[in-house]
Amino acid sequence: MIDLSEYTVLPGLIDAHVHLTGRHIGEGRNWEDSRVRDLPQEDAIRGVRNARLTLEAGFTTVRNVGAGHFGDVALRNMIDAGVVPGPRMRVAAHALGITGGHCDVNGYVPGLFEPDLSRGIADGPDAVRAAVRYQIKYGADLIKTCATGGVLSEGDAVGVQQYTLEELSVMVEEAEKLEHKVAAHAHGTEGIKAAVRAGVASIEHGSILDEDAVRMMRERGTYLVPTLMAGYAVERQAEEGILSGLRAEKALYIAPIMRRSFRMAVEGGVPIAFGTDAGVFPHGTNAREFALMVENGMERMAALVAATRAAADLLGIADEVGTLEAGKRADIVAVQGNPLEDIGAMKRVVFVMKDGRVFKRPPAVSATR
Ligand SMILES: [Zn+2]
Repeated sequence: MIDLSEYTVLPGLIDAHVHLTGRHIGEGRNWEDSRVRDLPQEDAIRGVRNARLTLEAGFTTVRNVGAGHFGDVALRNMIDAGVVPGPRMRVAAHALGITGGHCDVNGYVPGLFEPDLSRGIADGPDAVRAAVRYQIKYGADLIKTCATGGVLSEGDAVGVQQYTLEELSVMVEEAEKLEHKVAAHAHGTEGIKAAVRAGVASIEHGSILDEDAVRMMRERGTYLVPTLMAGYAVERQAEEGILSGLRAEKALYIAPIMRRSFRMAVEGGVPIAFGTDAGVFPHGTNAREFALMVENGMERMAALVAATRAAADLLGIADEVGTLEAGKRADIVAVQGNPLEDIGAMKRVVFVMKDGRVFKRPPAVSATR
């Protein structure tokens, strides 16, 4: 018996968009060049720290949508084995993208980052199919793709479509055949629509929606994973000079549009699953997303559902987690205050149980039997 009657008890929270391994943006010196400076082992060890911070913030499940060197697969396995504390992870391994696109590493001399499907870089239907199989062979639970350009990549416009409809369709077909879902990073409207038509399970960011895109997502049940925190973070990093040049320009352009699109999606009845893009900002602060969702037009209860039942549905584990019900896994968090009155309460997680094991508790609360 654990007495949490002074607190508000909720199902364990789910963040459907994180990057636990490696450095977060701005962490340490020369972070822009972390891909040529950091050992894969360093990325993995940072992941151990980030996993613990995320769990202690109340997130008992995460979807890791993109990592190098299968660091996310290793972290998931070590958490599952009980070696290190962390959230239950569903991982994508390397995100799939076109040569020179958002998921590629650009801006270096030829020879350093040649297109290679083991890193997720694949052009054309056959290569895309092979890249899906490769990621799954080495442990991916889902496929992540970059359907459009992005903010933090060199050499591509943020809204431009990258994969073709044909490539995206083959990707979804191959992933679904192997019983895996596809999550598509997409900012620009045409890229969003192509990904939705191809049948992806979720649009990540969904920054430039129009009425047509909103209708398509509602009708097909395509989830939006809004990552409002990422928008705010890159906007602030651009203002503070942590981001510069093209990255800063893209950040300042996209952030306000992103918030407007989120409001359209809420009003238009698009299914929404909570996701933050933690890694663009420090891990463990994920719960700030709740306040941003509410400030930008979502009901408080709807924001809580997005981070529990809806995200569990998107991850394909709604029979195990996402609600407090007999027969499901005991993933339980408690917060100080009532989030239905003050959404800021979600930042005050005082108790975390995952799979029946307590990882955090207030000093005064102990188990009795
Ligand atoms: Zn991301």
